Amino acid sequence: AHLDRMAAVEGAVGAFLHTNTEEALAAAAEVDARRSAGEDLPELAGVPIAVKDVVVTKGQVTTAASKILEGWVPPYDATLVRKLREAGLPILGKTNMDEFAMGSSTEHSAFGPTRNPWDLERIPGGSGGGSAAAVAAFEAPLAIGTDTGGSIRQPAAVTGTVGAKPTYGGVSRYGLIAMASSLDQAGPVSRTVLDSALLHEVIGGHDPLDSTSLTDPVGGLAEAARSRDLAGVRVGIVSELGGEGYQPGVRASFEHAVELLRSAGAEIVEVSCPSFDYALAAYYLIMPAEASSNLAKFDGMRFGLRVEPESGPVTAETVMAATRGAGFGDEVKRRIILGTHALSAGYYDAYYGSAQKVRTLIQRDFAAAFADADVLVSPTSPTTAFRFGEKLDDPLAMYLNDIATIPANLAGVPGLSLPSGLSDDGLPVGFQILAPAREDARMYRVGGVLE
Ligand code: GLN
Repeated sequence: AHLDRMAAVEGAVGAFLHTNTEEALAAAAEVDARRSAGEDLPELAGVPIAVKDVVVTKGQVTTAASKILEGWVPPYDATLVRKLREAGLPILGKTNMDEFAMGSSTEHSAFGPTRNPWDLERIPGGSGGGSAAAVAAFEAPLAIGTDTGGSIRQPAAVTGTVGAKPTYGGVSRYGLIAMASSLDQAGPVSRTVLDSALLHEVIGGHDPLDSTSLTDPVGGLAEAARSRDLAGVRVGIVSELGGEGYQPGVRASFEHAVELLRSAGAEIVEVSCPSFDYALAAYYLIMPAEASSNLAKFDGMRFGLRVEPESGPVTAETVMAATRGAGFGDEVKRRIILGTHALSAGYYDAYYGSAQKVRTLIQRDFAAAFADADVLVSPTSPTTAFRFGEKLDDPLAMYLNDIATIPANLAGVPGLSLPSGLSDDGLPVGFQILAPAREDARMYRVGGVLE
């Protein structure tokens, strides 16, 4: 059924970069055979899934939507992909994204944008616009995203779907093409909170191949999503997230959702996180700094594209320069330059060092807020889906999309976005729920009540 749906709408939506129908059908047939043989299979066995193209899949092209990796076939599976296969989820294909997960609209993909199924003239969010659009367009019931500053939650918000960024370390990063290693986290994309919780349980858990992987067992998430019980839960509205700069229809939808939580028995409190005002600035130093280092491996020598200089000597340096010049898009180059500058001698303390101090202040703000509230809530994104081209030439306007999602990455805490209805422009609005680190179950508990 999903392949039929893909055949019908993929031409308009463009959620996938690569599909692998044969492999998906074979995996589905195997689940059928095992089930008919009376085997007790995991809950999601047989449910197809789409995987963001920044996650490596053995034998399937993986490009991170970059020309520099065009046609690259990984020799191994990411840990989360191995877990999907073991749980019997057929992988439909790899989804489109901003190149190397840098962006908020999927317009930075080297292979063309994905369209928002709600309005094909609008962006599906980013960087994981392909995963969100595939789920919103019913091409896939589930997808995998990655979230460094909001790339699971913001696309979920603008496509009316659900997406969750787990606690940092909750899902293995082994096999994720790294953007900013201290911020990156993979997580579920779905149409319901319960589906995200179920998928989170499949992909989560300790992995000795990821040195920042938590050792906590993953569990209780689906149970929390099903509990529909808010008795005694204190919900904190973050005063810094939601005022000026947020579209009125987004604010109205947010306030309505808060009222629903109140009537379901939650206690609503107001909390203040003053350092959040500096989160975006800190993120756009730390993220490019780490990315500039992580992307150094794309050198034309090891894998992917290799371009020789048009003239002059062919040396390691000129091949690297020609390859990187031709292989990376503008946004990737911008961040490599920003990151390299921020890390350079003489600027390190002023930029990177200051940003790390802000990061600590943000962590302290969270700690104080979570003393007064069990979860924190805000709109996921300040606006609904915007039109193609609207923010493409203005990096700052693009970066502002992540103002409400970035603090969670800087502090490593989990965050969930679920639809809270439509804005006055008829487009979906996302409601964000943040919980303390390792308390992912709380966001599913509160989110489950709202659906
Ligand atoms: N939009 C943010 C950025 O461009 C977040 C990206 C992400 O989470 N991968 O960096």
